[in-house]
Amino acid sequence: MPIYEYFCDKCDKKFEMLVMGKETPVCPECGTENIKRLMSACGFISKGSGGETVGASAGSSGCGTCSSTSCSTCGV
Ligand SMILES: [Zn+2]
Repeated sequence: MPIYEYFCDKCDKKFEMLVMGKETPVCPECGTENIKRLMSACGFISKGSGGETVGASAGSSGCGTCSSTSCSTCGV
């Protein structure tokens, strides 16, 4: 499934969005289109454990500098 992670500049929030075809996703909080798509690398990691507390203790290399709740270095 094409689930992508996005980051809203306005809300300063990260969220996941299912995107079909050429749909332009908007922020679920404020509705802006001014959002950035993040790489899916961290997306599939968080999908495994259902959200927030991923492998902080596992010390996995994920995307290198992924923390449990943010991944600004992964996709931006
Ligand atoms: Zn927003």
